[in-house]
Amino acid sequence: MKCRIAFDLDETLGTAITDSNSIIGFNIREGCIELLNELENQYQLILWSVSQRIYLNKVLDFGLDAYFSETYSWDDIPESWKDIRKINVKYLIDDNHYHREMARRNRLEHHYIIVPPYGSQEDNYDPLLWTKIIKTVLL
Ligand SMILES: [Mg+2]
Repeated sequence: MKCRIAFDLDETLGTAITDSNSIIGFNIREGCIELLNELENQYQLILWSVSQRIYLNKVLDFGLDAYFSETYSWDDIPESWKDIRKINVKYLIDDNHYHREMARRNRLEHHYIIVPPYGSQEDNYDPLLWTKIIKTVLL
């Protein structure tokens, strides 16, 4: 059985493109597809967003859906802290430090891989840094 790992969606894998009132696309982050292709040989990929299900499904339709065997939204797990034990994954990859800070209280911080948010200063400086951080731990 493959090791289960979870990815956050927004600012971790990309950002939604919206017009005034609807979602019209999703900007997939540089290096994302290559990374997911590489990881899926070895890992079972799961998506965990704290956004609503209706949003998640819309966004996944723009190209990422095929990579994830399970997806979780706020409708499934209405909690702001992503506790990896809830969905039985070994790692969570997320752009939000909050998840690792909370994990520290339970001595689980080594299971949280925090990457620079898409579009942040760090990301603009090296758009593939986030993939390097993940690969250092997972590959
Ligand atoms: Mg995020």
